[in-house]
Amino acid sequence: MKWKRKFKIKKIYLLPMWTRDKSKSWIKKTCGTGWLKLVDEVYDKLPNDLHINQAYQKWGLLMFDIDEDNQEFESFLEIIKIKSSETCEICGSQGKEVTIENWIHTRCIDHV
Ligand SMILES: [Zn+2]
Repeated sequence: MKWKRKFKIKKIYLLPMWTRDKSKSWIKKTCGTGWLKLVDEVYDKLPNDLHINQAYQKWGLLMFDIDEDNQEFESFLEIIKIKSSETCEICGSQGKEVTIENWIHTRCIDHV
């Protein structure tokens, strides 16, 4: 058991680890403030032995990379993805998929 723990600690150093603040400031910078609540939801549910390596917007959806397989948490991230597809990334109002200058975003009626 002890050996396993040591191995895990080593792994954490090898991968970039994004804290809640880092993820929130990146999403704020690249999307807006609309999804910050969803980022909080993810970090609130993040198990102690799991880490987030990256948070980003892709195809208008909020996505996270994690450092280990975890089916339960990955299904939760799917729910977050679906929630982000209905939430304006800029303001958090109800949104839908829109294409702006060839990029897919999720926006409300005021932000298209
Ligand atoms: Zn909006």
